[in-house]
Amino acid sequence: MGAQQVADRFAELYGAGPEGVWAAPGRVNLIGEHTDYNDGFVMPFALPHQAVAAVSRRTDGVLRLHSADIGGDITELRLDDLAPGGDHDWTAYPAGVVWALREAGHEITGADVHLASTVPTGAGLSSSAALEVVIALALNDLYGLGLKGWRLARLCQRAENVYVGAPTGIMDQTASACCEAGHALFLDTRDLSQRQIPFDLAAAGLRLLVVDTQVKHAHSGGEYGKRRAGCEKGAALLGVDALRDIPYDGLDAALARLGDEEEVVRLVRHVVTENERVERTVALLRAGDPRAIGPVLTEGHASLRDDFRISCPELDLVVDTALAGGALGARMTGGGFGGSAIVLAEAADVETLTKSVEAAFAAAGLTAPRVFEAVPSAGARRLV
Ligand code: ADP
Ligand code: MG
Repeated sequence: MGAQQVADRFAELYGAGPEGVWAAPGRVNLIGEHTDYNDGFVMPFALPHQAVAAVSRRTDGVLRLHSADIGGDITELRLDDLAPGGDHDWTAYPAGVVWALREAGHEITGADVHLASTVPTGAGLSSSAALEVVIALALNDLYGLGLKGWRLARLCQRAENVYVGAPTGIMDQTASACCEAGHALFLDTRDLSQRQIPFDLAAAGLRLLVVDTQVKHAHSGGEYGKRRAGCEKGAALLGVDALRDIPYDGLDAALARLGDEEEVVRLVRHVVTENERVERTVALLRAGDPRAIGPVLTEGHASLRDDFRISCPELDLVVDTALAGGALGARMTGGGFGGSAIVLAEAADVETLTKSVEAAFAAAGLTAPRVFEAVPSAGARRLV
């Protein structure tokens, strides 16, 4: 979506051009799944797909919102009426950001917004964070708030958790706000420290595919809560603040202490080994060996499938088909029970792999997946 196109439509809707145009990307998590609410490590990178917003300030306490992807009329809200809870449509994401900024003491007196996004919604690629972060960055710049990326991410997370009412970790918003092109972002979700890790696939002759299965199994919300509660139980039983505090070389001892708590054992094993996989991935990429992360990704999938139990037949089909076709590694990514998988492959193999995944879906009588290449891209920024 071009900045000019979004600005032109803004002018049509609101009668004058915007003060500026901003972009914020969706993300894919390379490795580090369901670790973020355990104070652990994650490693997302930004997609070329992004939300683009044209924004101008207002002084009358009114927020006007319009999305090209939803269409319909402009939604007009009074800032003083913004409050968490209640029935919300898509406008809750941008309205929640304004609410969170004001609640944190920042003076926002209104805005006109028109946006358009190329991030697929509900595919586990964080279209919601892209939407939040693009609004937060626009208001940060226009109102001169001087907030750093991680701070904006925090406020966006608050908007999503409290205003929208969706329990999510800090990864999505931080990725959208802080990623850099050609890099993955190592994020320690305990202290929010971050490092940019070189991840230039093209230079290594590699490509990474995102395969959106286009399925979302209905029970996913409740299952997320159950996994989260199970992890908290594990931490409590082991006497630690969070599962992050169980070191990899202390895993066997920890599992032994959990005894016959079979489900908790599986959850703890996933989280502790997943943190180790993130650290291993960082080390391999730092050593300039991106090919070697393939098996680490695949191990992560097995752990999510067998221990955390949040995969589904469609995601397993992508992974199994890709690996059988010679992919270097593959795993589901995101919350699970549908959404997307990633496939790391030699550039030369990508076309054949894509065809074989499509053929496997057709043979299984499934809706065709959406397959696209994920090039590690820039985080949120001002375009105009
Ligand atoms: P994900 O973040 O994985 O894509 P979510 O359910 O967290 O899925 O967020 C999707 C929701 O975000 C959509 O249902 C919609 O309310 C909102 N959203 C995302 N992109 C847009 C857009 N371009 N215009 C309006 N709303 C959007
Ligand atoms: Mg989301």
